[in-house]
Amino acid sequence: MHLIDTLEARMAQLDAQHLRRRTRPTQSPCEPHVKLNNRDCLAFCSNDYLGLANHPAVVAALQEGAGLHGAGSGASHLISGHSQAHEALEHRLAEFVNPQFETCRTLFFCTGYMANLAVTPALAATGEPTAIFSEALNHASLIDAVRLARGARMHVYPHGDLRTLETRLAQETATNKLIVTDSVFSMDGDIAPLPQLLALAERYGAWLIVDDAHGFGVLGAGGRGVLEHFGLKSPHIVYMGTLGKAAGVGGAFVAACPQVIDWLVQKARTYIFSTAAPPALAHALCTSLDVIAGLQGHSRRQHLQALIAHLRERMASSSWRLLSSDTPIQPLILGSNETALAVSAQLEAQGLWVPAIRPPTVPPGTARLRIALSAAHSINDVDRLADTLKALQ
Ligand SMILES: *Cc1c(COP(=O)(O)O)cnc(C)c1O
Repeated sequence: MHLIDTLEARMAQLDAQHLRRRTRPTQSPCEPHVKLNNRDCLAFCSNDYLGLANHPAVVAALQEGAGLHGAGSGASHLISGHSQAHEALEHRLAEFVNPQFETCRTLFFCTGYMANLAVTPALAATGEPTAIFSEALNHASLIDAVRLARGARMHVYPHGDLRTLETRLAQETATNKLIVTDSVFSMDGDIAPLPQLLALAERYGAWLIVDDAHGFGVLGAGGRGVLEHFGLKSPHIVYMGTLGKAAGVGGAFVAACPQVIDWLVQKARTYIFSTAAPPALAHALCTSLDVIAGLQGHSRRQHLQALIAHLRERMASSSWRLLSSDTPIQPLILGSNETALAVSAQLEAQGLWVPAIRPPTVPPGTARLRIALSAAHSINDVDRLADTLKALQ
């Protein structure tokens, strides 16, 4: 019984610190207008930035994919689980992101978490002395990936601190150097200085591993993500894009030069030792990519930018201060866990769902509301959020 007693004591501590986390079941698909506790609610929570999670064409493609390929893949990719649908998606993704590389191939993973857990440890397992330079605000999956890269020397550089990074790169004697960073920081919404990071990578012979979970589909005129946004192209980039956020379905991919992809197929443990995602997902994702790359994607990105500008303009005339961000992630820092939970609960009482984000997801003392906008929101939706927040101030 000792373990149960300990767990109960720990949970009581979490409660006292306002840190207990809970799931909230919804009774409707992922959209701005959802049913929560069987009540209509306007949500600013999801990472469905382009509104594709319940897009009729994507839903139809998922159904069609199940008809064509069945429900499950039955095995890992290297046994018998790699279907023509996975193959087609990898080719389609490579074509889509290729302008940002010399030549690239892609590898599809079940989730972004798994893709991240694969890449850094695999690239640190070449037998060469390896050093990893990890940005302080990286996503938990990148932090775990760095921990899994046993034997590598680890440097964590402060958020956006190019000078410290350069000093450490210059001092490092390892022959294999990996810089690992989020592109859009998931809880702050700011964008990493990738042109400068790439310049440092090239100057010091390092590789740049970029997690574009919040940029893929959203950033760049064509929705190709952060590399397109900055006009970057380099064979020294290993790019990870997730497919459960703007692409609206699930999964992730890594894009890199063919040698890196070949190596991942040999060494990426989350790829090798896990059942391939249902092929129907890959089939549906090809339709998501059509939408992202097409006119609809273009107009959805434009609408999203208009919503971001509108929210920031409305909030500028209030006493609430949004963090500086040009992305759909618009955080409102509140400080204590208790305040963040209280404001979130007050909004919910008014039919608005904005999640409170607390440590350890964010540093202690910086609990916040993470307002996430989607192209599926209307200007009216944003006005309702701004009006309700203003009434609370
Ligand atoms: C969501 C997220 C991931 C994980 O992707 P999943 O496909 O949800 O597992 C990785 N990195 C960042 C920055 C994320 O926000």
